Amino acid sequence: MIDNKVNQKKLVVNKLTSAGINITPETLNIIMSLENPLEILNLIIKETSFIPSFNSYLTLNILQKISNEEIQKTLKRFVSKEIIIENLNSTSEKPEKAEWIVNVEKFSIEPEKKDMINSSNIEGINNFKEKSNLALLGHVSASLPKPSKEKKKSKIYDSAKSTLHFKPLAKEFDFSYEILKDPTGKLFTSGDYDDFYDLTLDKYNKLRNLMRKRPEMKAATNISNIFRLSRNFEISTLGLVNDIYQSKNGNYIITLEDITGTINVLMRNVSENVDYIKTIERTVKDQLLYVDGVYNPGEQGKTGIIFANTISKIDIPTDYKPNISEEPVSAALISDLHIGSKEFEEKLFTKFLNFINGKINKKNYREIASKVKYIIINGDLVDGIGVYPNQQEDLTISDIFKQYNFAAELLSNIPEYIKIFYVAGNHEPVRNAIPRPAVPKKYSQELLNLGVKCLGNPSLIRTHNVNTLIYHGESMHDMNMIIHGLDNNNPVETMKELLICRHLAPVYGEKTQIAPVDNDWLVIDKIPDIFHTGHIHINGIGRYRNVSLINSGCFQAQTDFMRSFGISPTPGITPIIELDTLNVLPLDFKKINS
Ligand code: FE
Ligand code: ZN
Repeated sequence: MIDNKVNQKKLVVNKLTSAGINITPETLNIIMSLENPLEILNLIIKETSFIPSFNSYLTLNILQKISNEEIQKTLKRFVSKEIIIENLNSTSEKPEKAEWIVNVEKFSIEPEKKDMINSSNIEGINNFKEKSNLALLGHVSASLPKPSKEKKKSKIYDSAKSTLHFKPLAKEFDFSYEILKDPTGKLFTSGDYDDFYDLTLDKYNKLRNLMRKRPEMKAATNISNIFRLSRNFEISTLGLVNDIYQSKNGNYIITLEDITGTINVLMRNVSENVDYIKTIERTVKDQLLYVDGVYNPGEQGKTGIIFANTISKIDIPTDYKPNISEEPVSAALISDLHIGSKEFEEKLFTKFLNFINGKINKKNYREIASKVKYIIINGDLVDGIGVYPNQQEDLTISDIFKQYNFAAELLSNIPEYIKIFYVAGNHEPVRNAIPRPAVPKKYSQELLNLGVKCLGNPSLIRTHNVNTLIYHGESMHDMNMIIHGLDNNNPVETMKELLICRHLAPVYGEKTQIAPVDNDWLVIDKIPDIFHTGHIHINGIGRYRNVSLINSGCFQAQTDFMRSFGISPTPGITPIIELDTLNVLPLDFKKINS
């Protein structure tokens, strides 16, 4: 009988090894105590491939996510037993209970978790600083004791402090990247009125094709066809919003336009339409809407109108599955350094550089740094010159070339095994209107010498299978001004709206300058796995339908200009995203003493 168990254990371990899965002794114990471990193991191996956060380490947390009654029962039994044992053995020297699950593993995130969270299933987290360690453990956490502050100071990392051991894992992997979309050198315009017409037409065609991918769109008809109807008829159509207003009794009238004509749509403001009203309240001119309802031709000589039943935008499919990397590498997403500005937070940025080089006196930070293979600088690397009136008063370096010299000097501290992508923001010496080409060579030569990849705004890149849409974020201020319920303190909500309408700048006649080019680069035709923006200077992290949303913090303190707009920036918060799990670790360099 005992022999049999030993054999079984060997088989289980073999099976796991050949599936490339690592396991902790605790988890193995649990599996071995199942009625038929080998059979259940097959199920576990299969199920783990559907868990996005699974990175080949089978932990209790991962087991939790597998819906199998026997596993869940055994798990419950074990977790409470372990806690009792832990409690009996507990001394102040012992690490927190919360750690016994994760600390056996090589690259799991080890606390000081105060400054970081696992965002795998949390949407729009902004106040992550308040989240406890236990957030990492899913619902196992409910039965675990709360960690105490004293224990935090226990000696777990003492050995790490004496020797700053740093062997970057990312160095062991080759670069694997592709530029999927970059407007640099591909922007053609004559500046004529015709170009705006071409742009709108291209936008309409692209958005329409995206909308048409939804199965319920098949029946949608052209607007001119609708006018041929002489009696009430159920129809569906789609068009760009030409006008939108609320009538005296609170209903919404929207004018839709396609290449065949324009038509009015009425959505009644009644409780059963609450979701559609919300959609309308977040709609601006030139977005594409789908409507179905009843067409009423009206009395003779009058124009007909659609009484809408439903109204919707293109959106992202609810079952979107993000691509992930097979290699355990990460990307650091930064923006808005504003080098040359009096408010550039050089000290904080030096801490970031120390972190990247494994020189932070915390083992877990060095582990995170060791995986960083890519750094994306999403615009406003330099403060530029003449960007706004009297800018020179706010500059410490008032020569654009010298700003770039200093930028190159700082970035030269980043090791060669890390690839840097640099997208041009609104402070860069390039035209203000978007889409915007990469910074010209005459400014960026030193950066190019360092191997920095300079890109236009927006760009789409693929790193280790993961697609990242990089957009500086110019239109986000406008969106926040126009749309009630959106504001600068919650950039993730604004990013979500851009994804839903599948356009990066669905604003019309506001501050965002849009270049009259013949083809619309701002349509989000390919769904990104990571959507990265900056510009707002306020960090935000979230997820929408499995797309990771990240607005970088910045490395610039509050300027007078921001103060006048009531913007409180979050300098030093730097999100690191693991490309193999898409978990985001927002490090706060203000809180790190290096
Ligand atoms: Fe900026
Ligand atoms: Zn900016």
